[in-house]
Amino acid sequence: MSEEQETADEIGQLVDDAVKAAFEHVTNELQAARPDVFGLSMSGLGRCRRAAAYALARTEPSDPDLVLHGEKRAAHLGTAVHRMLLPALAHALGGTHEVPVLLADGSVSGIPGILDLWWPSKRAVVDVKTVREYKLDRVLVHGEEYEHRMQVGGYALAQDARWVVWLYLDRSSGQTVRVVEEFGPEFRREVWHRIWEIQKLAETPEYAPRDERGPGLSYQCDGCGWLRRCWGSTARSGESGAQAHIAVDEPAVEAALAQYAMHRDEEGRHKKLKAFWRAVATGGGRKPGTYGRWRYHFTKPGYGLDQKTIRKDYADRGVEVPVKEEAGRLMVRPAKK
Ligand code: SF4
Repeated sequence: MSEEQETADEIGQLVDDAVKAAFEHVTNELQAARPDVFGLSMSGLGRCRRAAAYALARTEPSDPDLVLHGEKRAAHLGTAVHRMLLPALAHALGGTHEVPVLLADGSVSGIPGILDLWWPSKRAVVDVKTVREYKLDRVLVHGEEYEHRMQVGGYALAQDARWVVWLYLDRSSGQTVRVVEEFGPEFRREVWHRIWEIQKLAETPEYAPRDERGPGLSYQCDGCGWLRRCWGSTARSGESGAQAHIAVDEPAVEAALAQYAMHRDEEGRHKKLKAFWRAVATGGGRKPGTYGRWRYHFTKPGYGLDQKTIRKDYADRGVEVPVKEEAGRLMVRPAKK
């Protein structure tokens, strides 16, 4: 194609392809530098127990490409922020960054990890997590995530730390929320229990609990190296459906339907409660603002499709409203005896 014939769309497509290739290139480079991608490391301690059991048992991955290749944009952005921030933070605190550690757990290789920042004068492990704004809000209310608790607890065990610090950073604004906890006996026990549980499960990883909801419904499953081993040969990253594989007989399907009905009813109840508490908190012309530990505001009003007017407009012009076929809704009711 000559230069004159190119369109803006074509140039844009070339840029899109290049961005995709650039992220894939970064993935390839990072994975090549990682020594033991499919072994158990500190970051796996608090994630799905079955994945941790597969890793510890050295189970052959069924889907290594999901881990070794792909764009992994959010993860790379997190890495870029770490590279920029950690040296400066280590300098400001008087610590060292990206410290390799190895926890002797009784296994031949131990559990390796690289902690973000070691602050020796306080014997503190500082771990930076880059997140989106809504996660920062969740940390403010509920504290650190369990997965991060176990990961940083593992570093603290290996390093014999006194303090652990989780520093959550909003990728878009730079705002931070930190959680600090003394690494006392209770916390130590909690981490050791998790490690012992994984060691036990690794004896028969196929029986370890699946802590995630499967392909298409879980980010972790979609990037898991044991996806098909776990959910069956039909499992595809990003597509739900393979979940049916775990309901092997009528009682299992019955149990799944009962779970569905229970969560549907809970969802309905929570919707009503949400509407009630919204009215209590924001009704009666109350002004948005900060109330104790909470604040609220409304986003700018937007525009939705005015279905009624659209239908009338089409009818007035004698044109049929375009429709698309949709799957029927799932209805679950108690079976008649
Ligand atoms: S596919 Fe999902 S549930 Fe199975 S081991 Fe991996 S993360 Fe766990």
